[in-house]
Amino acid sequence: AAKAAGKAAWRLFTPALESERSEEQRIEQDLHHAAESGQLRIAYQPIIGLAHGAVSAREALLRWTHPERGPVSPKRFIPLAEKSDLIRALGLWVLERACTDAATWPDPARVCVNVSVRQLGDGSLPKAVEEILARTGLHPRRLELEITETVLSNAGTGIVDDLQLLHAMGVRISLDDFGVGFSSLARVRAFPFDRIKIDGSFVRDAVERPDCRAIVGIVSELGRRLGIETVAEGVETPAQLAVVREEGFTEAQGFLFGRPVVVQAPAARAVGA
Ligand code: C2E
Ligand code: MG
Ligand code: MG
Ligand code: MG
Repeated sequence: AAKAAGKAAWRLFTPALESERSEEQRIEQDLHHAAESGQLRIAYQPIIGLAHGAVSAREALLRWTHPERGPVSPKRFIPLAEKSDLIRALGLWVLERACTDAATWPDPARVCVNVSVRQLGDGSLPKAVEEILARTGLHPRRLELEITETVLSNAGTGIVDDLQLLHAMGVRISLDDFGVGFSSLARVRAFPFDRIKIDGSFVRDAVERPDCRAIVGIVSELGRRLGIETVAEGVETPAQLAVVREEGFTEAQGFLFGRPVVVQAPAARAVGA
């Protein structure tokens, strides 16, 4: 009874913030074992080449089904993983799986893998990527790494060096979610970007709002003038597709073409079979 009372008192005096923090800690703790427990999957979403209308790439998006909580969004667990080195292990797991999968695809589409800024800067990612490409036999040009705009604001020289190394290997680099972070147009040129992905929020509103349409047009023009290809994210309707087509985007991605889909890996061969 005393124990129960103590527990109740603790609950009463615990600020909401504190319990939210321990909730996050529990999720982060569980995430440590998610990969080895088979709770992680990769969903692939097609990216369409607008010149020909065929699939030119597929983006790998991490999916986590927690045994008790059910599906947890990457918007929730990726930031938690990014607080520690956990993101490095997770990132390598995704890279290995994505390259293994892409090597079996019947078409030469690129596989686009999201990379956190925490995975860059110490030379380890270029080394790991080189090993993974050798192991899986995937051609370097078929791998694309997506890095969000935050790298532009807080990138030390080590980060630029790593991206240059990867780029020199033939790996493609793309700037993800462009337009919603702290862009520095000068720094866009300091990085070896092959592609810019404009954030879906601009695409979503471009049909109704002239200001969003203007931004969509400017990003396309920026890519054209810098010799960088442009991808429109979040295309959900034919009207939005018409806009990004008219504005001259190279590629488009969104629910209109296909949602991210988990392809179940074939069952592991039984030992001795
Ligand atoms: P992102 O890289 O910008 O990925 C695109 C997100 O937009 C995905 O959300 C995708 O499902 C969603 N999306 C695609 N088309 C549409 C559309 O037409 N409409 C709408 N409303 N949404 C669309 P998701 O899968 O929830 O991923 C969220 C974010 O989590 C990603 O944004 C990425 O930043 C991060 N993330 C996912 N997987 C990984 C990973 O393996 N590593 C890292 N570092 N981050 C990841
Ligand atoms: Mg992405
Ligand atoms: Mg994106
Ligand atoms: Mg996005």
